[in-house]
Amino acid sequence: MEATLEIQMEEPMAFSSSCDRLQADGSLKKREQNFKLPGVKKDIEKLYEAVPQLGNVFKIKDKIGEGTFSSVYLATAQLQVGPEEKIALKHLIPTSHPIRIAAELQCLTVAGGQDNVMGVKYCFRKNDHVVIAMPYLEHESFLDILNSLSFQEVREYMFNLFRALKRIHQFGIVHRDVKPSNFLYNRRLKKYALVDFGLAQGTHDTKIELLKFVQSETQQESCTQNKSHVIMGNKISLSGQAPKELDQRSPTKTSIKRPCTNAQIQIKQGKDGKEGSVGLSVQRSVFGERNFNIHSSISHESPPVKTASLSLRDCYATDKVCSICLSRRQQVAPRAGTPGFRAPEVLTKCPNQTTAIDMWSAGVIFLSLLSGRYPFYKASDDLTALAQIMTIRGSRETIQAAKTFGKSILCSKEVPAQDLRKLCERLRGTDSNTPKLTSDTQGPASPDQTLSEKTDHKASYLIQTPQVQPSGNSLHAKDSNGCARHFDECTTNLDGWDEVPDEAYDLLDKLLDLNPASRITAEEALLHPFFKDMNL
Ligand code: ADP
Ligand code: MG
Repeated sequence: MEATLEIQMEEPMAFSSSCDRLQADGSLKKREQNFKLPGVKKDIEKLYEAVPQLGNVFKIKDKIGEGTFSSVYLATAQLQVGPEEKIALKHLIPTSHPIRIAAELQCLTVAGGQDNVMGVKYCFRKNDHVVIAMPYLEHESFLDILNSLSFQEVREYMFNLFRALKRIHQFGIVHRDVKPSNFLYNRRLKKYALVDFGLAQGTHDTKIELLKFVQSETQQESCTQNKSHVIMGNKISLSGQAPKELDQRSPTKTSIKRPCTNAQIQIKQGKDGKEGSVGLSVQRSVFGERNFNIHSSISHESPPVKTASLSLRDCYATDKVCSICLSRRQQVAPRAGTPGFRAPEVLTKCPNQTTAIDMWSAGVIFLSLLSGRYPFYKASDDLTALAQIMTIRGSRETIQAAKTFGKSILCSKEVPAQDLRKLCERLRGTDSNTPKLTSDTQGPASPDQTLSEKTDHKASYLIQTPQVQPSGNSLHAKDSNGCARHFDECTTNLDGWDEVPDEAYDLLDKLLDLNPASRITAEEALLHPFFKDMNL
C-alpha cells in the first residue's frame, strides 16, 4: 500500500547516562538494584539536607523513579512496633505550583488507599521542598514483562486498572496521565496501584475540592473556542515550529515571587526520552541547580495553559507551519499527559474533557498488551499522534468523531480502519498468516545492545507500519509483513494467546472509541463479558 501520511518519526528512545539505571517507565532494573550510583548518593544527601525531618523517620536507601516532575526514593521506616516498613518518598520538584501539590495530595488522601489507588502516609515540607510518603509497592517494568504475560494475567491487569479508574472517576478525578509507569504492578503479589495525580483535573462535579480550583484555573481562558483545522498532508512537520506550550504541571511560581521572562523557560514535546512526555528541557533531578532557576512567566493572573496551535490549514503540503497559522489565535484546552496515550479529543484540544480520556489511555495500554508492542504509539507531537490513531482507527472515522466534539480535521488521503484482532495477532505473531518466528529473527537482543535499541525492538507498531514512511534508518529486523518483532523465547508466554476471545477485541474497540461520549466507562468495562468470571 502506498504511503498516505508522512509522519515525522522520533529518534529511538534514548536515555542519558545519568539515568541509565532507570527504565523508561521509572522502575528500576533488577540487576542494578543494589548498586548505588554516586549521583544517587548525592541526591539522597541533598534530600536529607533539604528536608531534615526525614532523617528522624526514614533511612533513604535508593532512588527508584525519576518522573518529569519528581524523584521517587525507596526508604525504610520503623513506624510502628514490628518490622521495618518500606516507603516510597516522592520529592516534588521545588518549583511545583502549591495548588498542584495540594491537589495531588488530596487525590491520594481522599480517593487513595483502596481499589488499587495508591494512598498516602505522610507529607513533609520544608520551604519549597515537599515530600509525599506513600506505601512502597515493588513493581515490574512493563516493557520487561510485556511478552511474558499470560492472557489470563492480561485480563487481571486490565480488570484491576479499571477498578482503580472506577474509583477515581467516582470522585470526579480525571487522572490524565494513565500509562504503565503510573500503574504499578507487582506480579508476584498480584498487587496494583495507580499513582501520580500530578496532572489530575476535576470533573464539573468533582468531590476533590482542590481540583475545582485547578479546573477553574485552566478553564478561565478556554471559553474562547475556535474551530481548529488539522490538515495532514505530505511533509508537514511541526518540529521546532509549533508555538511553545506549557504543561499544566510545569513548575510555576508567581511572577511576584520570581520575576522572569519567557526566554527562561523552554518547553519541548516528547523528546526527553521518557515515554515522550511533555517536559522542560532541563535536567529533571529535583536537585539539579537549573531546577531552582526555572521560572515561567505564568502567574496567578495568567494561568498555566497549553497553547499549541493545531491550525495548519494554510500550510498544506509544505514543510513549514506558515505565519498565518502561527499567528492564529491559539485554542486553550486542558492538555497534558504523554502523546502516545492521549485521546483524540485531547489531541484536538477539545475543551470539554471528561473521565473518558483515561479510558482511551487504558485502551492504548490494552492495545500494547494484546499486540506485544510498547510503546504502541510513539509520537513527538499531537498531529503525529492523531495521524497514528488514524492509521489504526481510520481517517474517515476519526474525522467523523471529531465533528461530534466540534473539531474539523482535514486529511490529505484516506486511511482505512484496521481490524483489531488481525492487527494484534499479526504483531504478536499468533495469526496463521505470519510465518512463525525463526531463530534468525527472534533471537534475544545481543548483550552489547544498548537499552534504547532493546527498547525499540518492542517499540511502536507504527514505526514499522507500511502506511508510514519513517525518516531515517530503522533499527528493526523486519518480517515478511515489514513488521519488526521482539521475541524472547525464554520469556514469551503463549499461554492463552492462541485463542484470544472476541470479547477482548470488543472491549478494546469500546475503549478506543473515537467518540468520548460513547466510549465505555470504567464501571461498564468491569461488567464487560471479557471479565465474566472475575469478581469485583
Ligand atoms: P512523576 O510525577 O514524576 O511521574 P510518579 O508518581 O509517577 O512521579 O512516580 C515516578 C515513578 O516512581 C513511578 O513510575 C514508579 O516507578 C515509582 N513510584 C512512585 N510511587 C511509588 C510507590 N508508592 N511505590 C513504588 N514505586 C513508586
Ligand atoms: Mg508518573
